[in-house]
Amino acid sequence: MKPDILVTREIFDDVLEYLAGHCAVAANQGDTPMDARTLARNLADKAGVLTTLGDRVDADLLAGCPRLKAVCNIAVGFNNIDLAACTRAGVMVTNTPGVLDESTADFTWALILATARRVVESDAHLRAGEWHGWYLKQFMGADVHHATLGILGLGRIGRQVARRAQGFDMPVLYHSTRQADPQVERACNATFVGKDELVARSDILTLHVPYASSTHHIIGRQELAMMKPGAILINAARGGVVDDAALAEALADGRLGGAGLDVFENEPALHPALAGMRNVVLTPHIASSSTATRHAMAMLAARNLVAALTTGQPPHLLNPEVRAGFPAEGPGPHAR
Ligand code: NDP
Repeated sequence: MKPDILVTREIFDDVLEYLAGHCAVAANQGDTPMDARTLARNLADKAGVLTTLGDRVDADLLAGCPRLKAVCNIAVGFNNIDLAACTRAGVMVTNTPGVLDESTADFTWALILATARRVVESDAHLRAGEWHGWYLKQFMGADVHHATLGILGLGRIGRQVARRAQGFDMPVLYHSTRQADPQVERACNATFVGKDELVARSDILTLHVPYASSTHHIIGRQELAMMKPGAILINAARGGVVDDAALAEALADGRLGGAGLDVFENEPALHPALAGMRNVVLTPHIASSSTATRHAMAMLAARNLVAALTTGQPPHLLNPEVRAGFPAEGPGPHAR
């Protein structure tokens, strides 16, 4: 008998067909967001689930899902999932690393260029019929070429961002939990510095760390105060990595030149001060959203789920200690 699974949001038809070849699928092709109670009700009798960032998977949810074996996130970040609680419950968790690196790096550059060169602000000006001809001091921005780029988190995405900086002749500094191998530093043309030095020397600071307790407000009031006057902050990582209230203050009092933000604390809510600022470019968490990449993410998550439920060996397992207890048949590996 095919295992029962849930897909919490609309997904590509061919991915659904692939899943249906292996599983009995309950799909939310109407794309109605599920609140916690609805998710719990729909997941109560399922063996697996394809989740997205809006789905919170925690101990409370797991307690009502005794058959659940696998939670497969359609994202590389997995801060919506309590990994420890899943491990305790014997539930495999997977993510989708690698397939979105280049698209997310491309979009980071879109934010860098749009913020530094005031693309969105000047577009709005033109559309509002306020353009009355060329003049010398109109919409002057900051140069990106030869500016110092700082990268916090030189992982898969951070490295792709660094590689793209070479075309702009930018010195690249980075800070990460550890210094990268020399060949990685050479490929990225990037120099390792301490976090404070990174923050203080960057003309453009871009963040590519995961969200965790160790990265909560890793750019907070203190770090913002250390940034160069007129510097630009880019966050295409996760809400909560930046203290949005402190950022809004730093932008309002003119210390920072601008910010390009794809992610926010308490998404989809937006800090009210940010919406009114002209030196801020705001996008709704779409850094990975090219058609090809979103499809690749969905298919990878689906393959993770099918592998988890059929072999217990999904390619991108985040808690391998669970796999050890995977039975060939029968109920979920967790005794509840
Ligand atoms: P990686 O794990 O490859 O890279 C993250 C890097 O950050 C690693 O080098 C890691 O070091 C480093 N790091 C972790 N904690 C700290 C810290 N406290 N201080 C300094 N460096 C730290 O992840 P990815 O590059 O694949 O993705 C990064 C994040 O980007 C994801 O977790 C996700 O939240 C976000 N993202 C956002 C998208 C969007 O749509 N806006 C799209 C895709 C990703 P180490 O390996 O040593 O732990």
